[in-house]
Amino acid sequence: MFVVKNLSPEPKRQEVQLQINEYSPSSSSCGHWYVRHGVCTGCKSKVDQSHGRSFNYLFHGLQISHEALALTKRLTTKFSCLNEKKLHLVLDLDRTLIHAVRVSSLSKAEKHLLREAGRQDLREFKLRGLLTIEYLVKLRPFLWDFLREANERFTMYVYTMGTQSYADAILEVIDPTKTYFRHRVITRNESSNRNKTLDLVLADERGVVIVDDSPDVWPDHKSNLVEISRYEFFRTSRRESKPHSEDKTDESENNGGLSNVLKLLKEVHCAFFRGEQELESKDVKLFLQERKISVV
Ligand SMILES: [Mg+2]
Ligand SMILES: [Zn+2]
Repeated sequence: MFVVKNLSPEPKRQEVQLQINEYSPSSSSCGHWYVRHGVCTGCKSKVDQSHGRSFNYLFHGLQISHEALALTKRLTTKFSCLNEKKLHLVLDLDRTLIHAVRVSSLSKAEKHLLREAGRQDLREFKLRGLLTIEYLVKLRPFLWDFLREANERFTMYVYTMGTQSYADAILEVIDPTKTYFRHRVITRNESSNRNKTLDLVLADERGVVIVDDSPDVWPDHKSNLVEISRYEFFRTSRRESKPHSEDKTDESENNGGLSNVLKLLKEVHCAFFRGEQELESKDVKLFLQERKISVV
């Protein structure tokens, strides 16, 4: 199966690939597990666009059947837990990891920041479309430490309701070498509605933690969610008090949203891998529920 092979550049993933091959249907009873540009990669027949689910963020034109998806998720989590001792982590971008605003909407008292853009935690970028839009992005304090440490325990995804080009521009700032997220970047382009879903994440729900400042976009996955405090550096319309940008202050490095969430993620990871229970019966949702996580 070419999909799993290509999805898994690490040599260790060979194990997963072999197991999936064992489960492959024969060509006479093909379930069209992996479809590319409307053609089944197994039996080569044409397949309807509504078959399974689209995974354009992995490969353009890729559809995976529900059966293959369920198996891929299960094997990925199993492999990840047994071979790497890693869970999966889905991270929102806006107001979770960064705060970005259009340069045109900066308040008078914020304009001085344009001269400081280029600082490690403050960058300017342009999105070219019909109109060129300039943005200023502020990275949340502790971001680099968070990504480095979380990466040791979790395979990480970015999931944003921003567009692909917006996400690419932000990722260019926070993960220029694709060390942390590789191809695992899900955007608005993948969604048919305003909600986010774990269906698009290639891992079993019982091994996935979500960190997002907007719980409402996860109606079906609240028990996987850690709600992080909202990071707003710039002045926004809903804000009445002076923002960090005008006050020349910022959230605390050691006691802010990301460092507090990291502490919790470490606990969840530790609790998941502790104990003698069967791997199949472990579930991050139980640990999160025990901790009664609300706002961190
Ligand atoms: Mg957000
Ligand atoms: Zn087929």
